[in-house]
Amino acid sequence: MNHSVANVVFSNFGDVPKTSKSTITGELKPTEAADAGVFMRYAAKVIIVPGYGLAAAQGQQKLFEFVKLLQSDGVNVRFAIHPVAGRMPGQMDVLLAEAGVPYDMIFQLEDIDDDFATTDVAMVIGANDVVNPAARTDKSSPIYGMPILNVDKAKQVYVQKRGAGKGYAGIQNELFYSPNCNMVYGDAAASLAKMIDSVRGLGKAAA
Ligand code: NDP
Repeated sequence: MNHSVANVVFSNFGDVPKTSKSTITGELKPTEAADAGVFMRYAAKVIIVPGYGLAAAQGQQKLFEFVKLLQSDGVNVRFAIHPVAGRMPGQMDVLLAEAGVPYDMIFQLEDIDDDFATTDVAMVIGANDVVNPAARTDKSSPIYGMPILNVDKAKQVYVQKRGAGKGYAGIQNELFYSPNCNMVYGDAAASLAKMIDSVRGLGKAAA
């Protein structure tokens, strides 16, 4: 029943229906990057999920800059890597290493998936298929059976993406419509720059 990672990576998604069997309910709830940044500053535990869009935006340096700001304010921040995130095996690990993220902050799916349920904020940056709950429940979905990062279990979810673009598999994602999820629209590098400014602004206000 389960798709192996290789099956998912090398699937020809073009041969399968693009619509989900279930009708997605709920609504998309946009929020400002600055507000999301401030909310994360006051969280205790944060998990960041990078995907293809982070690489496309080349936002990795800004991301680590933002994460270091959160850490300096005492927030516990970790990165969760899905084995097929991005467009090449290991792409996310390389991207984070390029930005100087220490290895002990980077966790692979099997080592962190159970922790989302006790996490205040999960921030998804340019990832889509690898956090799509249809993989668990929708037998008609091309990604059915693929293990996903359990982002939807976090108390608050932020998803950074530019607009209504689908992921590689070309399917809708019900995560985005969940009550605990807010959308941060914009290029990932630009949104992260706004988050940095908002958190730095808090420091100045307190000084
Ligand atoms: P996805 O391709 O599922 O989603 C990427 C998302 O990033 C899109 O929804 C897009 O939305 C957003 N995005 C694109 N550009 C930007 C930007 N500049 N700023 C912000 N967001 C952006 O990515 P995942 O990493 O979740 O999944 C990888 C997929 O690729 C899987 O389906 C996997 O099977 C497949 N794959 C992986 C391979 C590998 O070796 N890793 C190889 C071949 C396929 P929007 O357009 O709205 O911004």
